[in-house]
Amino acid sequence: MIDSLFTLYCEDCEVAERPSRLWVRAEIEVSTTRGPETQHYLECMNCGYRFKSCMEDHMEAVDDEEWNRFVSESPSFQAGSPSSAEGSR
Ligand SMILES: [Zn+2]
Repeated sequence: MIDSLFTLYCEDCEVAERPSRLWVRAEIEVSTTRGPETQHYLECMNCGYRFKSCMEDHMEAVDDEEWNRFVSESPSFQAGSPSSAEGSR
């Protein structure tokens, strides 16, 4: 089985003839007019370029705001919330 993500490459690195190494940082399920799609948020480990892949060969640059919304550096899903249970009444 061939993952289509491995056919993607970083355009900046491609131009500079560097081997691009893409890192899948997040997978987001989105609903489009054509049905559910999975968007992959990718980061180039060479130059730090951030983009998302919507369809197999379509890439879009991602700005910081969107990146931070979908790609969290720290785990945001912790078991329970440590401080919200006390003093609430
Ligand atoms: Zn790159």
